[in-house]
Amino acid sequence: MAKVLCVLYDDPVDGFPTSYARDDLPSIEHYPSGQSLPTPQGVDFTPGHLLGSVSGELGLRRFLESRGHTLVVTSDKDGENSEFDRELPDADVVISQPFWPAYLTAERIARAGKLKLAITAGIGSDHVDLDAAIEHDVTVAEVTYCNSISVAEHVVMMILSLVRDYLPAHQTVLDGGWNIADCVARSYDLEGMHVGTVAAGRIGLAVLRRLQPFDVRLHYTDRHRLPQAVERQLGLTWHASAADMVPACDVVTVNAPLHPETEGLFDDKLIATMKRGAYLINTARARICDRDAIVRALRDGQLAGYAGDVWFPQPAEPGHPWRTMPHHGMTPHISGSSLSAQARYAAGTREILESWLAGTPVRPEYLIVHDGKLAGTGAHSYSTAKDHKE
Ligand code: NDP
Repeated sequence: MAKVLCVLYDDPVDGFPTSYARDDLPSIEHYPSGQSLPTPQGVDFTPGHLLGSVSGELGLRRFLESRGHTLVVTSDKDGENSEFDRELPDADVVISQPFWPAYLTAERIARAGKLKLAITAGIGSDHVDLDAAIEHDVTVAEVTYCNSISVAEHVVMMILSLVRDYLPAHQTVLDGGWNIADCVARSYDLEGMHVGTVAAGRIGLAVLRRLQPFDVRLHYTDRHRLPQAVERQLGLTWHASAADMVPACDVVTVNAPLHPETEGLFDDKLIATMKRGAYLINTARARICDRDAIVRALRDGQLAGYAGDVWFPQPAEPGHPWRTMPHHGMTPHISGSSLSAQARYAAGTREILESWLAGTPVRPEYLIVHDGKLAGTGAHSYSTAKDHKE
């Protein structure tokens, strides 16, 4: 029987919801690539309900306990003697979400003698030390595509909100004010701007597709080039690297995984090559940007705005400089955890558990590390520290 240790974010401050703003979720047949949505044998939750917080338990308790397994759910993941650390040594499976990541460091993996499977209920397994997972033969899986469109929608929202300077204008309303000049002194149209994405995978391409009707000029850089038909359809300009692309862009959105190739990519040097007054949107991972370089660039006007929902570490400390830097549109890490996304990643987590517990293969598109190496989606999109040195 397996012990499953699940780290989820805290319940709402006012308690777990007893009612919701809407009664249902739209039905989606398949993801844009044709990939099927999660196909567990069943689910024990109501789609549209809060599943990602502690009391939501990703809807897993009945499923696991009825089969004799143990489920431990906690939000206590950091610091000396956290519940996560106490429960880890005899856990077979760890489940965590990027929004509230249980950092599975090399040191923790070494102490987790029974650990066989680390599931990311979401996308982005950089909170797991993949080299250590490879070394200790821990399978790492994530629910590929579950929240890609959720994030793409958030990116488009953030681009528009920065370029049009929406948030300060909304604040003016909340404050009882009406100074139009204050509200428009930094407000532009997106139309005609050059918008580029670092990476055109599931999220990056979805952002490009959503932006095309805004009559912008679209750019991208990615290690693999998109099919010519897609480039033509969207009018895309491809660049060999981020360094080639960013000087041409008014708006840059980052949609690449965090791995040794992308860590610290947006540093003082790269930002200095961007157009003065460019906007940078990063919903991928915080450490793709140099924290203090972003603050400097906003203060001196090199960047006109920065937005995203990813921080390091998470949760961000109250004094994190991104909370108070000028012209930012940050949110906590929420873009991939809408109620719509939660229904998909809870179902995907259950699908992965069903396969693993039955000893049948996990879908290759969900695999990041398996059999002591990068596998499936991981082999395509991730690199290890070892790859980087070679
Ligand atoms: P995909 O794997 O579909 O796309 C990632 C793309 O990044 C791939 O096309 C890959 O290229 C490309 N890439 C990798 N390294 C580089 C590089 N050095 N330069 C340029 N391109 C590169 O992932 P998703 O689109 O689904 O997600 C992207 C990232 O977004 C995730 O890894 C995660 O970090 C983040 N994310 C954030 C969420 C949030 O809530 N804020 C939720 C979900 C994801 P190649 O074709 O060569 O593999």
